[in-house]
Amino acid sequence: MVVTCLEILDARFALLHGFRATQDNYVATPLAWAVAGGESATTNLDHFDLDETLLTAAPLLEEAAHAEGGVAMRDVEGAGYILAFAVGPQGMPVAIAEVHCDALPSDGLNDCVHELLGIYAEHIGLLDYAELDTLTRLHNRKTFDENFDRFISMAEAAQQREEEEFETDPDKIPSCWLGVVDIDRFKRINDNFGHLFGDEVLIRVADLLKRNFRTSDRLFRFGGEEFVVMLRFVSKCSAAAVFERFRLAVETHDFPQVGQVTCSVGYVQIDPSLTPAEILSRADEALYYCKANGRNLVKRYEDLLAAGLITAPLAVVSNDELQADIDALFDN
Ligand code: GH3
Ligand code: MG
Ligand code: MG
Repeated sequence: MVVTCLEILDARFALLHGFRATQDNYVATPLAWAVAGGESATTNLDHFDLDETLLTAAPLLEEAAHAEGGVAMRDVEGAGYILAFAVGPQGMPVAIAEVHCDALPSDGLNDCVHELLGIYAEHIGLLDYAELDTLTRLHNRKTFDENFDRFISMAEAAQQREEEEFETDPDKIPSCWLGVVDIDRFKRINDNFGHLFGDEVLIRVADLLKRNFRTSDRLFRFGGEEFVVMLRFVSKCSAAAVFERFRLAVETHDFPQVGQVTCSVGYVQIDPSLTPAEILSRADEALYYCKANGRNLVKRYEDLLAAGLITAPLAVVSNDELQADIDALFDN
């Protein structure tokens, strides 16, 4: 794709960035690049002065991301032109192609490149369909189930590493957290405004999730009006602040027609020794507590447990232990 951009626009240099919106910024990740006269495109970015390119092009990428036609151009006085072509939905493109040319290409050629990039996005999109929820474009339950183990082992490795560094203050040890987000009284929204407005609420809550969490965090729609967030490597205090910030973002968002919507969040530290089902059920328990205590709340499982507001799950007794108990009973 980068070589095609280069050739059609008779450019010096083309770079394809992966692009993602975060809470108050954008993250562009270089994916592949090609230079005129070079042998071929490459994804090897080792010898590439990324910082410099990102600094010059960053405002332009952002401009393209928001431009109605998805294209932005900069005249670099005496050094040609930089063009940026956003790929994907306006305001939330999935990729941006940055192309450096000596002469300004015609509108016709620009349209041609943009269209090809669109086809590329479609292709990427098609590859993504099985993993993404079609309404919100978040990862779905299937992706969660398939990737949970990998996530846990990363959490485990990070925890060991961090514990050595932050030994003295456990509250500062970055760890991973799993949060279950459930929209409050969503059935009422459907009943009062219809499913179309209900769906719009789901899309907007998903967008608020995308904007409030980092690219390194993982977001899933679990079905219905329930979402799961995996928060990576943040301290206990930061996790509380981040979930609370999200809750507030939903509460203060003006949803079309519906007005105010709130959500509840139950979260728990990811203990690598537990199964996914056990971790989920702990976060769920904290969520149920929110639902039973007024909603529009964020609660941490460990806090509720320590305060005696919920009870610890019953320990699973193995058959061997049970048999030993029975034997002991009859011996006596
Ligand atoms: P609570 O505060 O206790 O969570 O109440 P609630 O009404 O949100 O919870 P409940 O689970 O009773 O209702 C969830 C509703 O979500 C029921 C279902 O009609 C609706 N729903 C599930 N999936 C979709 C969807 O894809 N689109 C729309 N519009 N509604 C959905
Ligand atoms: Mg609900
Ligand atoms: Mg629900």
